[in-house]
This record gives sequence, structure tokens and C-alpha cells, in this order.
Amino acid sequence: MAEPVPIFDPSHLLGLFPEELASVPALAGQPAYRVTQLLEWVYRRMAGEFADMTNLPKALREALSQTCGLYTSGIERDVASSDGTRKLLLRWPDGATSECVLIPDADRRTACISTQVGCAAGCVFCASGLGGLERDLSAGQIVEQAMRLTRLCGDDRGLTNVVFMGMGEPLLNYEAVVRALRVINASWGMNIGARKITVSTVGLPKGMRRLADEELQITLALSLHAPNDELRRQIVPWAAQISIDELVDAAVYVFDRTGREVTLEYVLLGELNDRPEHARELAALSKRMRSNVNLIRYNPVQGLPYRRPEADASQRFLEVLRERGVNAHLRRSRGLDIDGACGQLRRRTL
Ligand code: SAH
Repeated sequence: MAEPVPIFDPSHLLGLFPEELASVPALAGQPAYRVTQLLEWVYRRMAGEFADMTNLPKALREALSQTCGLYTSGIERDVASSDGTRKLLLRWPDGATSECVLIPDADRRTACISTQVGCAAGCVFCASGLGGLERDLSAGQIVEQAMRLTRLCGDDRGLTNVVFMGMGEPLLNYEAVVRALRVINASWGMNIGARKITVSTVGLPKGMRRLADEELQITLALSLHAPNDELRRQIVPWAAQISIDELVDAAVYVFDRTGREVTLEYVLLGELNDRPEHARELAALSKRMRSNVNLIRYNPVQGLPYRRPEADASQRFLEVLRERGVNAHLRRSRGLDIDGACGQLRRRTL
């Protein structure tokens, strides 16, 4: 495995807070308002390089380009789905690649971004974990994905939502993720409301509590995928160490601290976890905490034996939840024709 990426990386502007930016060598001796000008170019005017920042002195622009990266990835692949979803495979200077997806809707534009290259969690149905974890992404690299997608939206229509649901387990790259969350949320940064940001986790109780203590009003999504420990252990290897009871306790804590309902994510896998009795068990479980349920029909991964359930089985599952008073939604699958699910495009390219 590669060396861990430093959290405060002065050579990548997109991971920096204003006070840190003020201390990069290129800005030494410059008036304080340069930081404001720079941030405006980056996050308001979507400049792609320092050379575009025409109200900065030329010498400063040159000093910045020589010492500080802005966009540091290359776009290795750019694929558009027939439903408007757009997926980028980015290549970082060390050769690692990560995926991010823009999901446009009538009234919103959602960015789905990765937090790691590969993943250590190894959920049995997921493409991201197939090759294990390669490395963490830095905060700047996490923000850069969201910024690249913002720039695809067009001039006056930025992102409305950001979901940390790409490759990797956010809570296993904790510092970089929280730093990126703050840049994405900050009024000087991407300025996306905390309530429009979702972090999805395989379910690490300690990390869930720690994140709840950060005083960010974000939504936490918990990848449950099974309503009991026995089945969950088959689907999510991490569950060997972590029981559903512990997750419920952590979710209760999250709601108490943040006032935000936890989203329970449940990937429907044909004939594995999609029977009506699973729905009944899930309904009972979801009432042990303030939660809503997000059902996702499995997006098949080449080489894996899991199946996408039939539409009517999924619909029945949803009905069983709703009859029991659960606030549940069946998500429309997006980007099926472009390897939409986490890790699929990277895997195909590797
Ligand atoms: N590690 C985090 C976030 C990444 S995955 C987590 O586990 O939540 C985001 C969501 O997509 C998770 O719920 C994950 O289980 C789900 N997912 C992964 N591969 C999928 C696939 N092929 N089809 C449908 N959902 C998938």
C-alpha cells in the first residue's frame, strides 16, 4: 500500500482552508485580500487554472502555478449515460484512479464522490472492494471530484447535492473526509448546505459517533443491506465484528446529537435479502431509531453472482415497509449503461 496522503497538503489548493491558503509560500508578502480573490476565482468563477485569474498579478499567478496545484487530476474517461448521468474516471499524479458521478434531475444536480481508491470493506456484491484498498484520497482530491462535476453543470447551475457514495469507506479516511466536508459546505468554498450533503458508511459505530460530534448538519446514510446479523454477516464482511444492535445505538446517538434522521440503505439482492419477511424485519428494526429507508435495486457487477431483483418484488418490499409506517423510497437506478455503481468503471479500466 502507498504512503498515507498528508491531511494538510499545501500543494493542492482545493484541500485548503483560507487561513492555510494565506500561508502558502507563493502568497508570502501579498495583501490579505488575495486569499479572498483566489477563493472567488476557484469556487465562484470556476477558474480552471491560475493563469485565468486575471485580477491577480502575473508574477503571483506564475508563482502559484509553480508551487500549488489547483486541478491535479487528468480525466481518464468521461462517459455519458442515456439518462443524463455522467461519470468521470480521474487519474491522480501517482497513477491511482477514482470515479465520480454527476446525477442530474429535474430540480437537482447531485455529485457522487469517492473517498478512497478501492475499498477495504469488501461487501460481497460491490465492485469497489474487489481489489481491496489501494489508498486514501486526500481532502483536496475529494473536493476536486465535486469541483470537476460542478464545472460540468454549466455556468449558472452548480451542484445542489453532494453524496459521499462513491468508492471507499468515508469513515476509514476520517480526517480527509471531514476536511472535504467543511470545504464543500463553507460559504467561502463550494457553499453547499449541510442538509444537502450525505455521507454513506458501511457502519462503523465509533466513526458514526465521532462524525455526529463534528456539528455538521449533514445526513448520515447507513448501509444496512440486511435486517438481522446472520444475513448481514453474509453480505457485509465488516458485520462479523459489528452487530446491528451496536449500529442502532450509534444511529440513535447520531439523531440525538444532530437532529437528523439516519437513512438506512438497503441494496435489494434478488432472492437473498428481498423477501417479504426481510421487509417486515427491516420495518421493525427501522423503528428502533429515527430513520428512513432507501431501497436500491442491485446494479449487477460483472463476475459477481448477485442478481437485480424483479421490479415487482422490489415494489412489494417497499409496500410492506410502507404498510408498517416506514418512510421508505425505492431509488430509481441511474447510469446503468455506464457502470453506474461504485467502482465499476475503474474496475473495467484496470
Ligand atoms: N462505503 C460506503 C459508501 C460507498 S457505497 C458504504 O458502504 O455505504 C454507497 C452505496 O452503494 C452503499 O450502500 C453500497 O452498498 C451501494 N452499492 C455498492 N455497489 C452497488 C451495486 N452494484 N448496486 C447497488 N448498490 C451498490
